[in-house]
Amino acid sequence: MLTERLSVYDVNKDSEALLRAAEIIKNGGLVAMPTETVYGLAANTFNEKAIGDIFKAKGRPQDNPLIVHVSDIGMAKELVSEFPEKAEELAEKFWPGPFTMILPKADCIPSSVSAGLETVAIRMPSNEVARQLIAVSGLPLAAPSANISGSPSPTTAEDVLFDMDGKIDAVIMSGRCDVGVESTVVTLATDPPRLLRPGGVTLEQLRDVLPDIVVDKAVLSQPGKGCVVASPGMKYKHYSPKARVVMLEGDFESFKTFVEANKDEGVFALVFDGEEAELSVPCVSFGHKEDEFEQAAVLFKALRELDKLGCKVCYSRVPSKCGVGLAVYNRLIRAAAFEVIEL
Ligand code: AMP
Ligand code: MG
Repeated sequence: MLTERLSVYDVNKDSEALLRAAEIIKNGGLVAMPTETVYGLAANTFNEKAIGDIFKAKGRPQDNPLIVHVSDIGMAKELVSEFPEKAEELAEKFWPGPFTMILPKADCIPSSVSAGLETVAIRMPSNEVARQLIAVSGLPLAAPSANISGSPSPTTAEDVLFDMDGKIDAVIMSGRCDVGVESTVVTLATDPPRLLRPGGVTLEQLRDVLPDIVVDKAVLSQPGKGCVVASPGMKYKHYSPKARVVMLEGDFESFKTFVEANKDEGVFALVFDGEEAELSVPCVSFGHKEDEFEQAAVLFKALRELDKLGCKVCYSRVPSKCGVGLAVYNRLIRAAAFEVIEL
């Protein structure tokens, strides 16, 4: 299949390319679209064949449900059987934006989208191109990240093409994603509400609306084999480069000592900006130590870079768990398949 490249940087000036993308969606095709989090692989939520094609193109396990993207609140309400007061408050505060709510699903949601669950995940993206594509298609769009399942999520159209060229109908070329990690996922289908995946909307921000919110234990630790997880996506090894990633918990001096003692061919270090000069192994950096927003924005690019440079083993610095740092930590520990060494 030839994957069309559709450049949309400005929704008004590039309306022709946007209309073409909407046409492909309405015809049952797959279009990779930019969002403020990562690029998504979008299809008509109600077209079961197209939904099946998403799972095939990504190699995504069938039991991992998709997030449905909407362009307005009215569209969101049609997808759920109830939209409680708390959902209204959250939507008011965090939509459009990098925030996903899980609510009891309406009958119109195909079970392939919800992976057989009685709930559905919904998000209203703030990226203009994504919202306009949804509005012009007139359809809620089911969209997981536009990467091969398990690999680092794509934050540029080039990343999407690296994984998906020839496998999907079109890619909207639209520059780099702002946030760089996937949306915050909260379920309102449990009491108390539960944070299933940290993202651009932080736990601290959520507590203003949901003071009783709890953090699912799969956010920071590895779900035990065979145990039931609230968010199926969290049980998989995820976001991983081909290289083995090992997180080294400790200060920079002990990090340096460990890395220098273990240096070998193919050994790299994933470090904060400015630390490269102190190490004799090849380094890839993922932002300044104190800047969690920057770390989120560049983490997946850094993980992809490691593979391109031929890294075999990567020792990584550990981000803070505050604010957006929690999302960075959550992605990195999965990239490391939970391999952490306390120095
Ligand atoms: P992705 O499509 O890669 O952004 O992943 C979507 C995430 O949302 C995965 O971790 C899913 O398991 C989670 N998710 C989607 N729908 C539901 C749902 N109904 N209940 C719980 N988790 C969900
Ligand atoms: Mg994903």
